[in-house]
Amino acid sequence: MINVPLLDLRAQYAGMKPEIMSAVEQLFDAQQFILGPAVAEFEEDIAAYLGASHALGVSSGSDALLLALMALGVGPGDEVITSPYTFFATAGAIARVGAAPVFVDIDPATYNIDVRALESAITARTRAIMPVHLYGQCADMNPLLEIAGRHGVAVVEDAAQAIGARYHERNAGTMGTVGCFSFFPSKNLGGAGDGGLVTASDAVLYEKLKILRVHGSHPKYYHALIGGNFRLDALQAAVLRVKLKHLPQWHEARRANARYYDERFAARPDIVTPIVSPGNYMIYNQYVVRVPNRDAVLKGLQDAGVGCEIYYPVPLHRQECFAYLRYAAGAFPEAEKAARETLALPIYPELAEAQRDYVAEQLLRLV
Ligand SMILES: *Cc1c(COP(=O)(O)O)cnc(C)c1O
Repeated sequence: MINVPLLDLRAQYAGMKPEIMSAVEQLFDAQQFILGPAVAEFEEDIAAYLGASHALGVSSGSDALLLALMALGVGPGDEVITSPYTFFATAGAIARVGAAPVFVDIDPATYNIDVRALESAITARTRAIMPVHLYGQCADMNPLLEIAGRHGVAVVEDAAQAIGARYHERNAGTMGTVGCFSFFPSKNLGGAGDGGLVTASDAVLYEKLKILRVHGSHPKYYHALIGGNFRLDALQAAVLRVKLKHLPQWHEARRANARYYDERFAARPDIVTPIVSPGNYMIYNQYVVRVPNRDAVLKGLQDAGVGCEIYYPVPLHRQECFAYLRYAAGAFPEAEKAARETLALPIYPELAEAQRDYVAEQLLRLV
């Protein structure tokens, strides 16, 4: 038996310990832990990497989404359209500003919001659309942006799983009104704790995001707006700045692992591998397969020492906290089907050949 964790961050760290430790040591020597040059330098580097006009480090991906909606003035009485098949934070942010999440089912091929069903969900109350670029592949942004533009609603991209993903030569998180990213350790660019980022092309909106990041304070101790403490830690910025340099290679290593799995499972129609839409550069934050008898396969893999996980077992419209939205079971059949049929396999960049071979063999045996 070979043990293969779903993600092995120690393998990544082993290759870059001196670099990280030297950045941490510099920061401790400077003792400047709140904003300051470490955050500003990271923001500059990541804006260049993303090709974003403005990038602002924030406390987490969840706070990035919340801050984006706050800056856009979304609140009670408003509706925000999103996917029911995503991490909780996407819809959580909508509810936390007092707006109503409105769900649209997913495209079963990509697991992203089905843009064909989008327009019929727009009402006079719709203030924004929040596409999620799930697993590292962008939602179908051209038709989505066209619909949003025609109805005059903002687009807040949840690019938490998609930093560096591209859609027809455009970067995830730079196509909409605001782009939101997460540096949760399991994301392709992960910090040593929580962290996030918002991007905006509009300079006025960027200034508002920046002011809201520090309690709406502008100038210091004068508050025209109510914000919060949404700052990215300088320590996180220092670590992330080092890791950012390696990100393109990590994406490539994940993509090579994905190609390997794709080939190993190609002859098995009962194992549905990720489908990448034309024009997409997918960064495989997760490699998710659809299999029959998923729960038994999952248990078999776990028993064989293969780390795997279900993203996500309960679609958001079926979460207890959203019962007040009154969506019935069966309201979004594709999201519900994906929740029953999919599982994620280890895809991290440092996966050894023997490990991925073992994962493939076990899945082929169990399905
Ligand atoms: C990780 C994630 C978030 C939240 O990010 P945190 O940094 O953990 O707050 C939001 N949306 C999606 C789709 C995510 O995967």
